[in-house]
Amino acid sequence: MTITPLMPVYPRCGVRPVRGEGCYLIGERDERYLDFASGIAVNLLGHGHPALVKAIADQAATLMHVSNLYGSPQGEAFAQKLVDKTFADTVFFTNSGAEAVECAIKTARRYHYANGNPERTKIITFANAFHGRTLGTISATNQPKMRDGFEPLLPGFEVVAFNDLAAAEAAVDDATAGFMVEPVQGEGGMTPSSQEFLQGLRRICDEKGLLLILDEVQCGYCRTGTFFAHEQYGITPDIMAVAKGIGGGFPLGACLATEEAAKGMVIGTHGSTYGGNPLAMAAAEAVFEVAVNDTFLANVRAMGDRLRQAIEQMIPNHDDVFDSVRGMGLMIGIKLKDAVEARAMVAHLRDNHGLLSVAAGENVVRILPPLVIDESHIAECVEKLSAGARTIGGAS
Ligand SMILES: *Cc1c(COP(=O)(O)O)cnc(C)c1O
Repeated sequence: MTITPLMPVYPRCGVRPVRGEGCYLIGERDERYLDFASGIAVNLLGHGHPALVKAIADQAATLMHVSNLYGSPQGEAFAQKLVDKTFADTVFFTNSGAEAVECAIKTARRYHYANGNPERTKIITFANAFHGRTLGTISATNQPKMRDGFEPLLPGFEVVAFNDLAAAEAAVDDATAGFMVEPVQGEGGMTPSSQEFLQGLRRICDEKGLLLILDEVQCGYCRTGTFFAHEQYGITPDIMAVAKGIGGGFPLGACLATEEAAKGMVIGTHGSTYGGNPLAMAAAEAVFEVAVNDTFLANVRAMGDRLRQAIEQMIPNHDDVFDSVRGMGLMIGIKLKDAVEARAMVAHLRDNHGLLSVAAGENVVRILPPLVIDESHIAECVEKLSAGARTIGGAS
């Protein structure tokens, strides 16, 4: 037998973390890493944040799980907080981002069904998008590495070029339910939507009775310096998928919607055994209390500006390796020159300089620090990036 007990779908690297302390991860051999990957934009509060640890421990001892057959004081309280702070009137809790996107797709189709337009099933999505790994969410992307061998996929998606408003508008027909888009593409290469693009999609939806679904699984939840990234575009969606940061490391996702958009989601139409259980809600409440306020968000913006400026200043000294910087807030991408491969750079920074980052599409290195970093972490990151750029050619 050569297959590993863990299904070998991930190219796992040599880092084998056993402990976390704030913005650092500690490996099996006691080696330390500056964690600017944050479990792929998940650990908003870093590792071992006392408020989050205590909330989970206390709730685990009190009541962990009961199913959604019973009333949920914990779920009602947290959903109310999300509703108070966003465009949404109602929330469905899931265990992951892909499930939140699935709920968003179902909500959109069901809306048109409830309106007497059951033929409006097509969702227009965008090249390089990433919405998850379920059959439904891989149907919404055009990336062959995710789709090949899994066909037949779910019909009812059309992929057009990202940031191309004319292409999006041209794809609308009588069967269209709406658009689904990441305000800032994450896996695809840390590319923000342009203002005209996102505002244009909103306008088309308003004119044609379509729904705007935002996938803020990666760019949402304080990552870009506002609670949600769309706030920086002056628009609101009808439906939004959220996950990653929302539980600070506890698996949780959410599908948010307006009352109008959720009009088809009546009793019996959707469900989840675990979704929003008391333990998940306790974790989410703890993260929310720390992160969702003006002081915390102002610090994310300040640290995002500092980190970006520091990287921009460093690039001319290493312009054989680094090309440019992109992104919003603490969702930063460094595009590399063609001669250096992003995966190789991520591995080099990790193995030789103790810095964790993540590769993304378009030859981009993703910098996704915990949102609780201070100036010292920024200085350390830039020093490691700079050292990494110096040594990538000759390093073992
Ligand atoms: C990570 C991600 C998902 C999928 O989330 P999972 O929790 O892995 O299912 C969906 N959309 C975006 C934009 C993501 O970054």
